Amino acid sequence: MTENSTPAPGYSFRDYTAALRAFRGAGYAVTGFAEFLADPQPKHLILRHDLDNSLEQALRVARLDAESDCRSTFFVRVHARGYNLLSLPSLKAIREIESMGHAVELHLEGGFSDVFGGDNDSWADRQRTVFEAAVDRELHGFSLHEPARMGNLDFADRLLERWGDPVTYHAYESRFMMPTMKYLSDSSGHWREGHFALWVDTVPQLQVLTHPFWWFETTPAENY
Ligand SMILES: [Zn+2]
Repeated sequence: MTENSTPAPGYSFRDYTAALRAFRGAGYAVTGFAEFLADPQPKHLILRHDLDNSLEQALRVARLDAESDCRSTFFVRVHARGYNLLSLPSLKAIREIESMGHAVELHLEGGFSDVFGGDNDSWADRQRTVFEAAVDRELHGFSLHEPARMGNLDFADRLLERWGDPVTYHAYESRFMMPTMKYLSDSSGHWREGHFALWVDTVPQLQVLTHPFWWFETTPAENY
């Protein structure tokens, strides 16, 4: 590396907000799914966060999004071992995230029927019921956690059709993926097609999935 070269963007909060601000500066709307569906812009980034382990960490990212003049959709689990959706801190975190203008929806997961019987549909119904009880409103959208465990996208498409209104979308629908729009994810802490910061002004519309677990202020050790 020469003295003048810019380091590649990483997972610090500073790099995260710099990327968001670059998109905003280039004229992109940065919003969650519902705002995109209601009012899609020619340059639009759908910002999605799947909360696999921590709601505390989600709050930090929610603040960064808001400070960067961005909105996003957070997907929460009901079966997480790292947080209890119905605990007081969780319910407060959800309210705070929503008060910043972001949306909170369901991160749906499978695998329970392998242990307890039933099928993915009935377990999905139970997750929706628990989610709606926790937030005291109807579900509008969902994302799949580890899609391979849930019959992949065919399952999600069928479930969306079966649930119907007021559930209007799932995050892996073809309208949110290639070839309709670019899809970038930090899964396993690795951007397969380059950090999302590198995609400013290369595509008009994109979905960016982050897992707040990978992002940190000073050191990754903050999260584990
Ligand atoms: Zn997940």
